[in-house]
Amino acid sequence: MTRKKIVAGNWKMNKTMGEAQTLIEEIKSQTLPADVTVVVCPPTLYAEMAARLVAGTKNLHVGAQNVHQETSGAYTGEVSIEMLKSTGVEYVIVGHSERRAYNRESSKHITQKITNLLAHQLTPIYCCGEPLSIREKDTHVAYVARQIRTELFNFSSEEIQKIVVAYEPIWAIGTGKTASPEQAQEMHAAIRGVFAKKYGKEIADTISILYGGSCNAANAKEIFGKPDVDGGLIGGASLKVKDFVTIVNSF
Ligand code: PEP
Repeated sequence: MTRKKIVAGNWKMNKTMGEAQTLIEEIKSQTLPADVTVVVCPPTLYAEMAARLVAGTKNLHVGAQNVHQETSGAYTGEVSIEMLKSTGVEYVIVGHSERRAYNRESSKHITQKITNLLAHQLTPIYCCGEPLSIREKDTHVAYVARQIRTELFNFSSEEIQKIVVAYEPIWAIGTGKTASPEQAQEMHAAIRGVFAKKYGKEIADTISILYGGSCNAANAKEIFGKPDVDGGLIGGASLKVKDFVTIVNSF
């Protein structure tokens, strides 16, 4: 079966409104491959503008970098799923390692966010990945398998196919230290195996698993060339149009 190829740009806390507008317009002006789903995840403040700019394009979509786990209520400063959806957001990153580390995002919250996103027909981009200490102990496969079992295994076969997975080794995020294509393939195949064991091979084969962690214009082709890598979640390199578009064209 052919899985969806996806490249998502996680802008993190970068770009002013004007810069964000320019970057989206520049991406829009490029010829993008029709078979790649391209998602831009600007700061939430610009979601509505971003959605307006990508409206009518073939394969450009807007994602958010986070959402609150509750659907409404007295949560000062937070943004809900319905708010995001009303601006035109279609994808939401959940469980990014920076949020797990700096905002103490727990497995319970991550599962709750995904549950509510699916109920609102939005696509979660679920992040998993091991810290350096685990990689050095060579227990990374078991660590990520446990994350997935804990956070995703309550979802049905139908639901699990609506989730995009991003494997992001924490030691590779923003460090310039990329996993080798072989390291990425090893983990992506293992992740697919974890899903296959629970949901069956046919369903596991439909799940897009993206690689994230210092993926850039120079290394994307080799990483995306691996059989279980279906694209990338791109941080730093998504902030420059030339690099991002090169990555989108790296399949
Ligand atoms: C990320 O934060 O999701 C990421 C992959 O960042 P970078 O590409 O900068 O390592």
